[in-house]
Amino acid sequence: MRGRFRIFWSYFVRLSLRKLWNIITAEFGWLLSLISRQPITGKYPTSITVELTNKCNFRCPHCYTGGSFGDREQGMMNREVFRRIVDQAAGKAHRLLLYFQGESLLHPELIDFIRYANKKHLHTYLSTNGSLLAEELSKQIIASGLDVLVISYDGKSQETYGKYRINGNLEALDRAIEIFHHEKLESGSNKPLVILQCIVMKSNEHEISEIRRLQKSESIDRVQLKTLQLLDFNKTNQWLPSDASYNRYDTDEKKAKNRVCKQLWRSMVILWDGQVVACCNDKNGDFAWGSITLNSIAGIWKCATANEFRKNVLSGSFPEICGNCFYS
Ligand code: SF4
Ligand code: SF4
Repeated sequence: MRGRFRIFWSYFVRLSLRKLWNIITAEFGWLLSLISRQPITGKYPTSITVELTNKCNFRCPHCYTGGSFGDREQGMMNREVFRRIVDQAAGKAHRLLLYFQGESLLHPELIDFIRYANKKHLHTYLSTNGSLLAEELSKQIIASGLDVLVISYDGKSQETYGKYRINGNLEALDRAIEIFHHEKLESGSNKPLVILQCIVMKSNEHEISEIRRLQKSESIDRVQLKTLQLLDFNKTNQWLPSDASYNRYDTDEKKAKNRVCKQLWRSMVILWDGQVVACCNDKNGDFAWGSITLNSIAGIWKCATANEFRKNVLSGSFPEICGNCFYS
């Protein structure tokens, strides 16, 4: 509970009246769209995801990058594109998620990017596999002003952890988390908040209570459990947990499929090369709405292609990607 409150508070202190108004208009827009069946949006997304890179040193089997699904070129976001996004988002969007289909700690300008976003008062949120969290980088991340750091932690033994996090070493990760905590204490900073995130799978479900207990450790603000999104449906039994509450494909989840996803009214996702895609499930960039190198965030958010996509979702004519999405 304490951890949840701290995370809520970290969002709250980054709010301003203008950002709050943007959130309210996004939610009202969604409600009005449901009633009218016409896409009505706020002027601006409330949350922006930027893919700093789609390269990774791990090979997680159900990840777009790790499992080598799709055919997108690999690369790193350049400074000009990043600053363009942050300059436009500042004062309007509330959150900036600094990761998508890759390991952001590989980006050589990561620290400069976080500092820049922090200066513009965006709530910054970074997710990592933690393998590159060495002492010096930990110091830099803490000093950068990052708000939340999510570390993937999918097992309490090397056997379970390494089954999904291929190339990962649990002992090294535990040591990195300790070092990070030590550096945070040394710096006197209470930021970033640290979330351990565990994808519950068949291999680790027996360790869930042990992983949950890590929340009592001083170095962790929250343990977050997540369901697995399958990208390869050939061996589902090998991956999906037997506990239905941790299985997004279970029948209870299917009941939720009558909802209309809000993501298209709230969040914008920008790939490393500046392409804006429909949503976080458009990992291959099949539904591009435009490029940030040519157009503004506000312009793309309300463009005809984006509204056509929203209109299709409202009318129940879901594109194929929605079939494997938690939000549909
Ligand atoms: S660590 Fe993250 S980005 Fe890398 S392969 Fe695994 S899920 Fe994908
Ligand atoms: S895949 Fe479909 S349901 Fe999922 S977030 Fe995208 S638009 Fe929404």
